[in-house]
Parts: sequence; C-alpha cells; structure tokens
Amino acid sequence: MRDRERDARQRQADEALRDYEISRRRVLEALGVSAGVTAISATGVGRALGAVGSSADGGSADLILHSGTIWTGVRGPSREAVAIKGQRIVAVGSDREVLAWADGSTRSIDLRGAFVAPGFRDQHAHILRTLSTNPATYQPRWTGHDEAASFESRRRTGQGHVNTYNAGRTPSDGAATHGPVTELLRSQILTLQEEAAKLGISTIVDAGLTNLTVMDALMQLHDEGRLKVRHLIRWQVGAMEAAAQLGWTTGFGNDWIKVLGVKMYADGWLGPRTCALREPYADDPYEWGFPNGILFLAQDRANRDVARAQELGYNITAHAIGDRGVETMLNAYDLAGVTQADRWALEHVQVAGDDLLDRMAAKGVVASIQLSFPTSDHWFAFDALGKRRAQRESYRWHTMLRRGLHVAGGTDFSIEVLDPLWGIQRSVTRREFDGSPSGGFLPEESVTVDDALQLITANDAFASYEEDDRGTIETGKYADLVVMRENLQTIPRMAIANATRLMTITNGKIVSEGEVAYPPGDATKDIPGAPSQQELADLY
Ligand SMILES: [Zn+2]
Repeated sequence: MRDRERDARQRQADEALRDYEISRRRVLEALGVSAGVTAISATGVGRALGAVGSSADGGSADLILHSGTIWTGVRGPSREAVAIKGQRIVAVGSDREVLAWADGSTRSIDLRGAFVAPGFRDQHAHILRTLSTNPATYQPRWTGHDEAASFESRRRTGQGHVNTYNAGRTPSDGAATHGPVTELLRSQILTLQEEAAKLGISTIVDAGLTNLTVMDALMQLHDEGRLKVRHLIRWQVGAMEAAAQLGWTTGFGNDWIKVLGVKMYADGWLGPRTCALREPYADDPYEWGFPNGILFLAQDRANRDVARAQELGYNITAHAIGDRGVETMLNAYDLAGVTQADRWALEHVQVAGDDLLDRMAAKGVVASIQLSFPTSDHWFAFDALGKRRAQRESYRWHTMLRRGLHVAGGTDFSIEVLDPLWGIQRSVTRREFDGSPSGGFLPEESVTVDDALQLITANDAFASYEEDDRGTIETGKYADLVVMRENLQTIPRMAIANATRLMTITNGKIVSEGEVAYPPGDATKDIPGAPSQQELADLY
C-alpha cells in the first residue's frame, strides 16, 4: 500500500533526523556549547576563530584532509580542508579552522592542492549482474569505433528484444533465484567492489537484480566488515514478489546495503531500433517489422505492474528510452497517483519531447540518465530518428536540468565502463575520446563540469532519498569522499577522463589509497566526422 511506503519513508526520515541530531550534538559538545558549558574556553581562542573547533574531551577528528580544493557540492566557494570523525564529517572549511580538530591521534593528510569531491555515485549500473565477467582482468580501454562490429552487435540485441516480445515477456520478467552463498560469489563481489572503490565510487545502484543470493552475500560481507562500496538494489519486476516476501522492499538495509526499489522495462534500445517511438523510425536497417519499435509494456500491463509494486511498498523505475515508452510509464505513474514525494524514476529517457519532460517535472519523476550515452549513440541517432527529431528531442541532459527535472547520473556499466570520469568528460564535451563528432553531438545539450559532478553526487543522493545524509561535503553528513590529483574544474575538458584518483573514503573509512587512472587510451583512428588536429588542439 501507499501507506506502507510512506511509513518506510517516515522511518527513514526519522533515522536520518536522529543521526543528524547525534552529529549536531557531537559538534556542539566539541564546541563546548552543550548545556551548562560556556561556549569557548579561555584556551580556545585560536579555535574560536572559525565556525568549528575541537575540545580536549575527545572531540578531535580521526582523519583530516587539508591544503586542498574541496568541491563541496554546495553553493559557495570551495574549501581547503575537511575533518572526519567516525563515519561522519565534523568540519569543512579553511585549513586553520579544520586543523583545530587535530590532536595526537588524528591522521592528517596534506593534499598538496589535490581536488576533493563527494564520493561518486552511480544511479544505474549492473555490477552485481556482471559477476560472470572476470573482474581480475577488468581494464577499461577505449579502442575507437568499429561500425561493422557495432552494427552486428546491435542486430543481436534487437533480435533478443524481438524474441522476448514474441514470447509475451519483457527483459525484466526473470523470476527470482535464491540459493546458498558460494565462495565464488563472495570473491567476485569483493573483486568488483575493489575496482569501484579505486574509481572513487562510494555508492552504486544495481539497476535490476533477480539473484536474491546476492543480498545474502552482501549481508555476510557487511557483517565481516569487508564492504568497500555501498550497494543500493533494485529488483527486476519479475523478482519483486519473492523479495517482498523476505521483507526486502524499499528502505530495508543499513549504511552499506539498501533496497531502493524495483525496475521495469518498457521498451527496447535506440541502436537496434527497438525502443518505442510515437512517430516511426526514420530508417529500417534491421527490418524487424516494428516501424515504431517495441513496447514491451502495453498500457494495461504497465498499469498493473506499477499498481502491484506500489502495493508492495517499492520505489519504482522503468527502462524507457523512446518517447512512447516514456509516455506509457508516465500514464501508469499518473494512474497510480504518483507525487513529488514518491521520487519514482525513468531510466535513460533518450527521446522525449517537451510535453513529456514537463510531465516528469510536474510529478517529480526522476530522469535517470547515462552521461556517456549521447557520445556512444551519436553514430546512429540521426539515422534512426531523422535529423530534426534528433535535434529537438534526443539526449537532452541540459534541457532537462533547465526545465527543472530531477536528473540523476549513471553509467549503465557494463554497457559502458564503470569509471565515472569517462562520462563526465563525454557529457561536458559531447565528444568521443577521439574528438568526434566534429563540433560535438548536439553540443547545446552539453552540461558544465559542476552539473556533471552534481549529477553523480547530490542528484543521485536525492534520487535514493539520501540527500539529508550524503551527496555533498557538509558537516554532519556521512564522509563519502574522492580525492583526485587534478582539479576537474580547471583541467582541459578533454583530459578529465585521464585524471588520477588518489583516495576514496566511504562511510568515513578509507577504502582505496594510491594512484588510479584509466586514461581512455590513444584512439586516433581515422574516423569520418572526427575533428581536424587543429580543432582537437583547441579543445584541450
Ligand atoms: Zn541498465
């Protein structure tokens, strides 16, 4: 029922409030402002200069990062230092203010000008479904574009969609599986999370799981104190009943593992010409016999599934790439009485006119977009949609932000690589790593570095009901941080993906330390539409 979801959300809000009160009290105590104590001791004059201070009775920080550029995600100038105690941030400010939190037991790290951002988040990945890939050999490299291979790969995907549709199913209908936790599963999770932690990622939303055993494995690893990345889970709609029977609905979990909700699947993809469009495709390279693409969820089925997921107490999202897919899901959400408070979402939203964006904004439906998709899809978007529709209605990340939508950012790993910096560079430049296409793909839809960072920090936290606790660097919030050598705001935009991660902190714990970079590589193939050497040089 709606009431159950509301109760769950209220419980969450209460917990957040309690945690906030605890941290507020701790800060006040540290300041000497708790009841009956004078605000500032005689010896605390130096400490009283800033808005923060430490005390002799254990108010010191466990970890201080200083002499850096702290991009807090909050309006205003960047700061120099941040102090952490336990799982939380206790001070953010100038070096002098924050270093007042140090004592003999504090580990102080001189950032030497390094750049600190809130720990990255990924609102749409398949890290736990990708367990079958060999994580030990995970080494992202961009090797350029091979149109012949891509064409065939899209055909295979499209054939899969056609077969699924003909069987009367959607790609999210897989039934739940649940068995004993194996050593293999545990070690695969540990290896993949190691990779994510190295990349600066604090929180990953797994966008569609049917394997309930993964939850058991995560809880085991959590009990053993071995988790390094926070996992938020969405169940595939086919597994939602089984998960609900175990009580694994929205809000279930702890600081490291949480059930976020369910995921449905409205239509196909643009590349294989299977996403559902209101107007027919402009071309027909695969001759599927679906001129408007494939709508897996007919309106009545969408209505039914949404109503049931709502009844079970789930937050809801749906894969919806084409405008007909988006429209069908919005109809179902409206019928269910969706409100801003629900924060239901749609994944991808690659083709959507103003009418649909306005409907999403009005009901607070989150657009969960992928930062790398515009550049990855520029090879076929104009052919599939026709130039006019592509220009007006596709990959509208900037327009979405401007029209007041809640926009959340992700990768869709393993469709794209897990490294968030690759997506930031692509969404800011609207260019592939070789600079193509010349002039950028729909360059008016590019976003700023600040916007891109917001998309994968604060905005993602909002989309997961965590904005009171995470997503920015502020006193009282959980310490989820990433340290990079380069300042993402000032390095050349075409070099963002080369930046080096130095440290990742999640829930106050250092989960990765040491230099990590995945430069996309030298992909200077001769590609039609690629810029001239001069144009490329101007981009840096
Ligand atoms: Zn996905």
